[in-house]
Amino acid sequence: MAVLLSTKAATMDWWRRALLAVDPGLTIRLFPDAGDPAEIEAAVVWTAHDMAELRRYPNLKLIVSMGAGVDHLLRPPGPPPGIPVARLVDRMLTTQMGEWVLLNVLRFHRQDLDYRALQAAKRWEELPAPVTAETRIGILGLGELGSHAAGLLTRLGFPVMGWTRRPKVVDGVQTFHGADGLAAMAAQSNILVCLLPLTPETRGIVDAALLSRLPKGAFLINGARGGHVVDADLLAALETGQVAAAALDVFQPEPLPADHAYWSHPKVVMTPHAASITIPESAAPQVVENLRRARAGEALMNLVDFSAGY
Ligand code: NAP
Repeated sequence: MAVLLSTKAATMDWWRRALLAVDPGLTIRLFPDAGDPAEIEAAVVWTAHDMAELRRYPNLKLIVSMGAGVDHLLRPPGPPPGIPVARLVDRMLTTQMGEWVLLNVLRFHRQDLDYRALQAAKRWEELPAPVTAETRIGILGLGELGSHAAGLLTRLGFPVMGWTRRPKVVDGVQTFHGADGLAAMAAQSNILVCLLPLTPETRGIVDAALLSRLPKGAFLINGARGGHVVDADLLAALETGQVAAAALDVFQPEPLPADHAYWSHPKVVMTPHAASITIPESAAPQVVENLRRARAGEALMNLVDFSAGY
């Protein structure tokens, strides 16, 4: 029996080596060279893989996302019916995202864009000192990534709020849920951070209505998915100053076309979906363990809840 890997060629080979380091007995096939379809028992795939293609494998027991997000696996036609899908919950992914959020919170809190502009103009000018306890941070999504980022920010002294689907208690974080909760949190968020999964409920959630609820001159940080943000609404809010600046790691589509306004926008800081990159050596043990469990008929780890969409 074999594990099918599907992503960019260079990354596939990296994954192959990482999985074999954990279990040298595995047979690994690199898509599109799947070999005998009846031998494929697990598919470890990233965003470009066509879910319809996975219906070719009659003995498939498990599908694994190569990242924390699974929106690419759930979009139509979705995974083959009855096959469980697992995502990665990985310390290195969580750590990297925490760093990226901290980088951008501090960039905005410490007026870094303004100081860079002053430097470019060779102007020696002191701006009013920012007060940490007065910079309120609202995090959309307090899952693996959001709750870790919240912990880092509370330790620095920022007042942190978080919004979730279900009511949730997180130490040191003021929590909200539901539509009313979102409006209440947005109204107090000097910096809004999006770390939600992309689902039918969360697509386009950062729109003109939500942005207009933020305090004037708030900042947006999106490390989740490009589909969360309505780009035209964000650009309009940047134009009026309702949003002072945005840090964006994710876009729709990716790569972002060269003529998109974000590339040269003075108030947009971009990274190319690189906030948190899967390191196969770190992720491989949980994939191998999940495969063992699937073979043994045991409960799987980090399973996607199809009804919730993440
Ligand atoms: P997670 O553990 O599943 O947490 C998701 C959080 O979002 C939970 O707190 C959940 O609420 C909340 N949520 C989901 N739907 C909601 C809704 N309709 N309304 C309000 N809250 C909702 O996910 P994660 O591991 O933190 O990852 C989050 C996302 O980050 C991934 O899905 C992926 O898209 C993105 N990501 C991006 C990168 C990158 O490099 N840019 C890397 C990794 C991941 P409950 O607590 O009530 O369930």
